[in-house]
Amino acid sequence: MGVYCFRPSMPKFFIKTYGCQMNERDSEQVAHSLIARGYERVEHETEADVVLLNTCSVRDMADQKALGKMGMLGRLAKERPHMLFGFLGCTAQARGEALLKNLPHVDLVVGTQKFHRVADYVEELVARKAARPAVAPYQLDRAMDDLRFSIVDIAEEPGSQSTIRDQQLAPRQATAFVSIMQGCNMHCTFCIVPHTRGAERSRTVAEIVGEARELVARGVKEVTLLGQIVNLYGRHEFPKREGKSTFVQLLEAVNEIEGLERLRFTSPHPIGFRDDLIEAISSLPKLAEHVHLPLQSGSNKILKAMHRGYTAEKYVDLVHRIRHAREGMAITTDIIVGFPGETEEDYKQTRDLVEEIQFDNAFVFRYSPRRDTPAAEVPDQIDEHIKEQRNQDLLRVVNESTRRSGQRLVGRSVEVLCEGPSKTNPARLMGRTRTNKIVVFEGSEKLIGEIVHIHVQHANGFSLYGAQLLKDRSTF
Ligand code: SF4
Repeated sequence: MGVYCFRPSMPKFFIKTYGCQMNERDSEQVAHSLIARGYERVEHETEADVVLLNTCSVRDMADQKALGKMGMLGRLAKERPHMLFGFLGCTAQARGEALLKNLPHVDLVVGTQKFHRVADYVEELVARKAARPAVAPYQLDRAMDDLRFSIVDIAEEPGSQSTIRDQQLAPRQATAFVSIMQGCNMHCTFCIVPHTRGAERSRTVAEIVGEARELVARGVKEVTLLGQIVNLYGRHEFPKREGKSTFVQLLEAVNEIEGLERLRFTSPHPIGFRDDLIEAISSLPKLAEHVHLPLQSGSNKILKAMHRGYTAEKYVDLVHRIRHAREGMAITTDIIVGFPGETEEDYKQTRDLVEEIQFDNAFVFRYSPRRDTPAAEVPDQIDEHIKEQRNQDLLRVVNESTRRSGQRLVGRSVEVLCEGPSKTNPARLMGRTRTNKIVVFEGSEKLIGEIVHIHVQHANGFSLYGAQLLKDRSTF
């Protein structure tokens, strides 16, 4: 047998990310570590030597999408046996070695506390493949069984929260995410995150401020602090000071960074959203006027069954306090319809509350049972077509309030941080207001990474359209 020799001069990798912004951030860390070792990032799997799928298991659909994608990549594995295939993140953590069973071309399974080891494992697998006897494509299924050399690492790792700290920036990249903590101790009954991401662990204020400061020095103007329950950052590790939570202390420290224009955080939990954070919203000038505040349900019975720890009345009161803290605050949310036991009356309470609050936008999800979560075991599951009806009905309510919130800005001027070409029309530019609304406008590429002032001429459902103002000041 011959020896298949794989060590292209500049090996290429492709990484696809499913799910939330935390996953996006984790993927950037992996990309950074591979690039630091001489790998080149490519935009399509067919150009790559290493294909990594960073997975999400919050909903069944995301889980299935990644599994389906990896299944389809099996054909590529047969055509090009030197390629490496890996699962990273939440599905990898939840399923571990079982992922190898039906997908024999998968070489690597890395859980949520081991992203910093991916580059080492890729190098090791490349070396193992280089020493692997050549096989004809028609022999590959058998050869894969015979020559299994996959790496699976889903162990816990103390200190892993501090390993997501490097990032590749695109030229003139204006915005960046900073991961401030990992895990969640809340145990909402529908949620698999405590299982896949482990217990809450926070980085230090000094580490986070250092990373944000470096990003700003490299040209970033807007930083978003990321955590599963971001406002509970540091509660187990660091003390309160002068009545301020560690999260508020962190906001104050990041707000001080010279050159930073905007500061965001996502996602907070209504629990722990206390007066010190409301005060920070009204007093820290760089904090942008937007809070994403997951509601999940407007029924107290369902909120209790979800183990959310607040009532609909407390949520409404919190929204009022946030809106009073600063003029023009935008509030967006997440809502689940069709949670087990949700009656028409429960759903109506959610719908009424969404009408009352008039969110700037909301993500509406049909409840999806997740393995190893208490809600999945409840016998009173809701029929899929009822979930779908409630989903469509609630989306109509949400779309109407989103449309109204956009319309209110027509004829006004807004401050926009230009992020780059519009995805729908690359001839135009796009950016976001401080309230996180997308604005599309015409202008030179020189504006990318700059703050501009735009006169809003019209709004459709989710985007605003306008023209640049040269002298005028923005009102939002
Ligand atoms: S707060 Fe609840 S929904 Fe959010 S990550 Fe934790 S357990 Fe999941």
